[in-house]
Amino acid sequence: MNIKESKIFRPACESSSEEVNYNLTIDEDLTDLLPYINREIDNAKYNAKGSFIKFMHNGHKVVLNQNTVSIAKFTDNDEAEKFSSELLLFLDDIRSRKGSIEPDYTTFDPPSVIELLKLLPRKAPCKECGYPACMAFATALRQGEAEPEACTVLAGQPDGEEKLEKIRELLGR
Ligand code: SF4
Repeated sequence: MNIKESKIFRPACESSSEEVNYNLTIDEDLTDLLPYINREIDNAKYNAKGSFIKFMHNGHKVVLNQNTVSIAKFTDNDEAEKFSSELLLFLDDIRSRKGSIEPDYTTFDPPSVIELLKLLPRKAPCKECGYPACMAFATALRQGEAEPEACTVLAGQPDGEEKLEKIRELLGR
Protein backbone atom coordinates (compact mmCIF):
# COMPACT_ATOMS: atom_id res chain seq x y z
CA MET A 1 0.00 0.00 0.00
CA ASN A 2 1.37 3.40 -0.99
CA ILE A 3 0.50 7.06 -0.69
CA LYS A 4 -0.80 8.52 -3.97
CA GLU A 5 -1.36 12.04 -2.74
CA SER A 6 -1.01 13.97 0.50
CA LYS A 7 -2.25 17.33 1.69
CA ILE A 8 -1.40 19.16 4.86
CA PHE A 9 -3.77 21.85 6.10
CA ARG A 10 -4.69 23.95 9.07
CA PRO A 11 -8.31 23.37 10.21
CA ALA A 12 -10.45 26.41 9.33
CA CYS A 13 -11.86 26.58 12.86
CA GLU A 14 -8.37 26.70 14.35
CA SER A 15 -6.68 29.15 12.03
CA SER A 16 -4.64 30.61 14.89
CA SER A 17 -3.38 27.18 15.97
CA GLU A 18 0.09 25.95 15.05
CA GLU A 19 -1.20 22.41 14.63
CA VAL A 20 -1.98 20.95 11.23
CA ASN A 21 -4.01 18.04 9.90
CA TYR A 22 -3.00 15.63 7.18
CA ASN A 23 -5.09 14.05 4.43
CA LEU A 24 -3.81 11.09 2.44
CA THR A 25 -5.08 9.32 -0.63
CA ILE A 26 -3.73 5.82 -0.89
CA ASP A 27 -3.48 3.61 -3.94
CA GLU A 28 -6.16 1.11 -2.91
CA ASP A 29 -9.61 0.85 -1.39
CA LEU A 30 -9.37 -0.44 2.20
CA THR A 31 -13.11 -0.97 2.77
CA ASP A 32 -12.71 -4.75 3.17
CA LEU A 33 -10.10 -4.18 5.89
CA LEU A 34 -12.31 -2.06 8.15
CA PRO A 35 -13.95 -4.91 10.19
CA TYR A 36 -10.47 -6.31 10.89
CA ILE A 37 -9.24 -2.92 12.10
CA ASN A 38 -12.40 -2.74 14.21
CA ARG A 39 -11.40 -6.01 15.88
CA GLU A 40 -7.78 -5.01 16.44
CA ILE A 41 -8.26 -1.50 17.85
CA ASP A 42 -10.05 -0.85 21.14
CA ASN A 43 -12.75 1.83 20.92
CA ALA A 44 -12.63 2.06 17.11
CA LYS A 45 -15.87 3.30 15.55
CA TYR A 46 -16.77 1.38 12.42
CA ASN A 47 -19.67 2.41 10.22
CA ALA A 48 -20.42 -0.17 7.53
CA LYS A 49 -22.97 1.98 5.69
CA GLY A 50 -20.60 4.91 5.35
CA SER A 51 -17.56 2.64 4.75
CA PHE A 52 -15.48 4.44 7.36
CA ILE A 53 -13.74 3.76 10.63
CA LYS A 54 -12.41 6.21 13.24
CA PHE A 55 -9.75 5.29 15.74
CA MET A 56 -6.87 6.62 17.80
CA HIS A 57 -3.39 5.54 16.77
CA ASN A 58 -0.29 6.64 18.69
CA GLY A 59 -2.10 9.68 20.04
CA HIS A 60 -3.62 10.87 16.73
CA LYS A 61 -7.22 10.67 15.60
CA VAL A 62 -7.49 8.76 12.31
CA VAL A 63 -10.51 8.56 10.00
CA LEU A 64 -10.20 5.98 7.24
CA ASN A 65 -12.76 6.05 4.44
CA GLN A 66 -12.25 3.79 1.43
CA ASN A 67 -8.92 5.09 0.08
CA THR A 68 -8.69 8.34 2.02
CA VAL A 69 -7.20 8.89 5.45
CA SER A 70 -7.57 12.03 7.60
CA ILE A 71 -5.26 12.41 10.55
CA ALA A 72 -5.16 15.09 13.27
CA LYS A 73 -3.08 16.88 14.70
CA PHE A 74 0.61 17.46 14.01
CA THR A 75 3.09 20.14 14.87
CA ASP A 76 4.71 20.05 11.42
CA ASN A 77 4.95 18.30 8.06
CA ASP A 78 7.84 16.01 9.12
CA GLU A 79 5.89 14.63 12.04
CA ALA A 80 2.85 14.05 9.79
CA GLU A 81 4.92 12.21 7.15
CA LYS A 82 6.64 10.01 9.71
CA PHE A 83 3.33 9.09 11.33
CA SER A 84 1.71 8.36 7.92
CA SER A 85 4.47 5.93 6.91
CA GLU A 86 4.14 4.12 10.24
CA LEU A 87 0.34 4.02 9.91
CA LEU A 88 0.56 2.40 6.47
CA LEU A 89 2.91 -0.26 7.87
CA PHE A 90 0.42 -0.87 10.65
CA LEU A 91 -2.43 -1.29 8.12
CA ASP A 92 -0.27 -3.55 5.96
CA ASP A 93 0.39 -5.68 9.03
CA ILE A 94 -3.34 -6.06 9.75
CA ARG A 95 -3.93 -7.07 6.15
CA SER A 96 -1.13 -9.65 6.26
CA ARG A 97 -2.77 -11.20 9.36
CA LYS A 98 -6.37 -11.04 8.07
CA GLY A 99 -6.66 -14.81 7.94
CA SER A 100 -6.11 -15.09 11.68
CA ILE A 101 -8.30 -12.14 12.77
CA GLU A 102 -12.01 -12.58 13.31
CA PRO A 103 -13.69 -9.55 11.68
CA ASP A 104 -15.85 -7.39 13.96
CA TYR A 105 -18.89 -6.02 12.11
CA THR A 106 -20.22 -4.09 15.11
CA THR A 107 -21.36 -0.80 13.66
CA PHE A 108 -21.23 2.62 15.30
CA ASP A 109 -24.07 4.91 14.18
CA PRO A 110 -23.26 8.54 14.90
CA PRO A 111 -26.10 10.70 16.26
CA SER A 112 -27.90 13.06 13.89
CA VAL A 113 -26.87 16.72 13.70
CA ILE A 114 -30.31 17.67 15.08
CA GLU A 115 -29.87 15.35 18.07
CA LEU A 116 -26.58 17.10 18.89
CA LEU A 117 -27.94 20.56 18.15
CA LYS A 118 -30.72 20.06 20.72
CA LEU A 119 -28.08 19.69 23.42
CA LEU A 120 -26.22 22.88 22.45
CA PRO A 121 -27.15 26.35 23.77
CA ARG A 122 -28.47 27.43 20.33
CA LYS A 123 -27.80 31.07 21.12
CA ALA A 124 -27.23 33.76 18.55
CA PRO A 125 -23.92 32.60 17.08
CA CYS A 126 -21.26 33.56 19.60
CA LYS A 127 -18.58 31.60 17.68
CA GLU A 128 -16.70 30.80 20.89
CA CYS A 129 -16.28 27.24 19.55
CA GLY A 130 -14.56 28.51 16.41
CA TYR A 131 -17.53 27.70 14.15
CA PRO A 132 -19.93 30.24 12.63
CA ALA A 133 -23.02 28.82 14.40
CA CYS A 134 -24.25 26.00 16.64
CA MET A 135 -25.44 24.03 13.58
CA ALA A 136 -21.94 24.08 12.05
CA PHE A 137 -20.46 23.02 15.39
CA ALA A 138 -22.99 20.15 15.69
CA THR A 139 -22.01 19.00 12.18
CA ALA A 140 -18.32 19.11 13.11
CA LEU A 141 -19.02 17.12 16.29
CA ARG A 142 -20.84 14.47 14.28
CA GLN A 143 -17.94 14.21 11.85
CA GLY A 144 -15.42 13.90 14.67
CA GLU A 145 -13.76 17.19 13.75
CA ALA A 146 -14.54 19.03 17.00
CA GLU A 147 -14.54 18.29 20.71
CA PRO A 148 -17.70 19.00 22.77
CA GLU A 149 -15.72 21.04 25.31
CA ALA A 150 -15.02 23.65 22.62
CA CYS A 151 -18.51 25.05 23.28
CA THR A 152 -17.46 27.04 26.33
CA VAL A 153 -20.95 28.52 26.60
CA LEU A 154 -22.40 25.07 27.29
CA ALA A 155 -19.68 24.25 29.79
CA GLY A 156 -20.62 27.40 31.74
CA GLN A 157 -24.33 26.55 32.03
CA PRO A 158 -25.79 24.99 35.22
CA ASP A 159 -26.67 21.74 33.39
CA GLY A 160 -23.67 22.06 31.07
CA GLU A 161 -21.65 19.15 32.38
CA GLU A 162 -24.69 16.85 32.17
CA LYS A 163 -25.26 17.84 28.54
CA LEU A 164 -21.57 17.53 27.69
CA GLU A 165 -21.63 14.01 29.12
CA LYS A 166 -24.68 13.16 27.01
CA ILE A 167 -22.93 14.48 23.87
CA ARG A 168 -19.82 12.42 24.66
CA GLU A 169 -22.00 9.36 25.18
CA LEU A 170 -23.83 9.86 21.85
CA LEU A 171 -20.50 10.26 20.05
CA GLY A 172 -19.06 7.22 21.80
CA ARG A 173 -16.17 9.16 23.35
S1 SF4 B 1 -19.78 28.20 21.31
FE1 SF4 B 1 -21.61 26.94 21.63
S2 SF4 B 1 -23.30 28.46 21.69
FE2 SF4 B 1 -21.56 29.48 20.73
S3 SF4 B 1 -21.83 29.16 18.48
FE3 SF4 B 1 -20.48 27.51 19.26
S4 SF4 B 1 -21.90 25.84 19.71
FE4 SF4 B 1 -23.16 27.69 19.58
